[in-house]
Order: sequence, then C-alpha cells, then structure tokens
Amino acid sequence: MMTETLLLNRALNCAMAEDYIEWAVERLCEGVDTPNLRILAGLNPKLEKDEIESYFRYTCKELNIDSFPRLDEPLTMAGRIKRAYELDELSAETVVYMMDQVYTKYYEPLLFVWSLIVEELSLKGTGHEGCFYPLEEFDSLDAVVQTEFSLFMRACFLDLPKEFEQFIQCDRCGYIGQSILSKKDHVSSQKMYWHLCRQCSYHKYHSMSDPKVRDIYFKRFEAVSRSNNSM
Ligand SMILES: [Zn+2]
Repeated sequence: MMTETLLLNRALNCAMAEDYIEWAVERLCEGVDTPNLRILAGLNPKLEKDEIESYFRYTCKELNIDSFPRLDEPLTMAGRIKRAYELDELSAETVVYMMDQVYTKYYEPLLFVWSLIVEELSLKGTGHEGCFYPLEEFDSLDAVVQTEFSLFMRACFLDLPKEFEQFIQCDRCGYIGQSILSKKDHVSSQKMYWHLCRQCSYHKYHSMSDPKVRDIYFKRFEAVSRSNNSM
C-alpha cells in the first residue's frame, strides 16, 4: 500500500487497521526505518487498533510526511486521486470506488457521475441493463476513468449552472438544459414522471451521465470563455 493511497483512504474513513500495518511492513521492507515505524509494523490490528492512529502520526512526523494534507476539500481530494492513478498507484477500479466515496461524502456536483458508474458496475453480469452510465463506454474501465478525469479537469475551469448534472440533451433538437417533468398515468395506475425537452417537448433524451453530452455541453462554455479572453 502506497503512502498516498493510505492517506486518501484515511481521509475517506476507509482505512482499515490492517492497511496501516501493511503499509508499515512494506516501508520496512524497502529499507525505511524509524522507531515508531517498527512499533506500527508490529502492532496487532485486532488487539491494538486504538494505538494505530497515534503511532501512524508519530511515524509520519519521523518521516516528514504531512499526515493531515488538505483532504477535507472534495476537489482537492479528487485531484490527488487522479494523480495517484496517473502514477499507477491506484487501479481504475479503486479510483471509481474512491471517487464515489468522495462524492457521497460531500455531494460535490462535479463528481456526480462516479456514483452512477458504481451503480452501473454493480449491475454487471446480473442480466439487468443499467441506465446509469452508457454501457457502450464500458469496454475498459481505464478508458472510462481517463475520459471522466479529463471531463472533470475541464469542468473545474467552468462556471457551470446549478444542478447541471440533472440536465438532459434532447435527441431531436439537441437542446441541453433542464427538462420539463411531465406526469403521466401509467398503465398500472402508478404515477410516472417523464422528462420532456423544454424546447420541443420530445421525450427521448440523453442524460448528463453520458460523457458525450458533457463534452458537447462543456465545449459551449469553453467557447464563451475563449471569446471573452480574446476581447
Ligand atoms: Zn428538443
């Protein structure tokens, strides 16, 4: 377990006692050696769980590791997860679950899609066709992660409207924005809500979870900011 991975998991309250011990043992094997690292590596994750955090902090002090990086901010965390992925410290799968954790901890709109990817992944092999994330994108999870990180970086520079993540793209006229919710009586007498295009009232659409829709949408903002900059 790499130091960054442990720090990220710790910030997300996902670090297990065993992770700290594993981390300490790995560092010792690499030739890193400090008194508290040795103690940490020798702790019993079941019996001495409460002592792990304090020995981890002592060890960080000895090794000059900032054990309290600014990980209380969702976008900073997302950026660090991205970097750890690019350095090959995290697998695509771990990235997806970590980003979902960050989203559900802070409900940062720019990270909404990661929870949908997790939902889609959980349906894999169940025979259910998901509708959270476009299935055709799922040839490789690495490709999904790279596409999403690149969209995420672009979104960070844009001043996106509130609740943009709930927008739709109309399949007929290409309108992207808020939908009209229309109530329809379903056959089973259940009330159902349908999204309709605000511009042409068409009922078929793509949601913002589709990376292609976000790409088109972001390009509009990027074009505006480019023309503003050149003025
Ligand atoms: Zn339309």
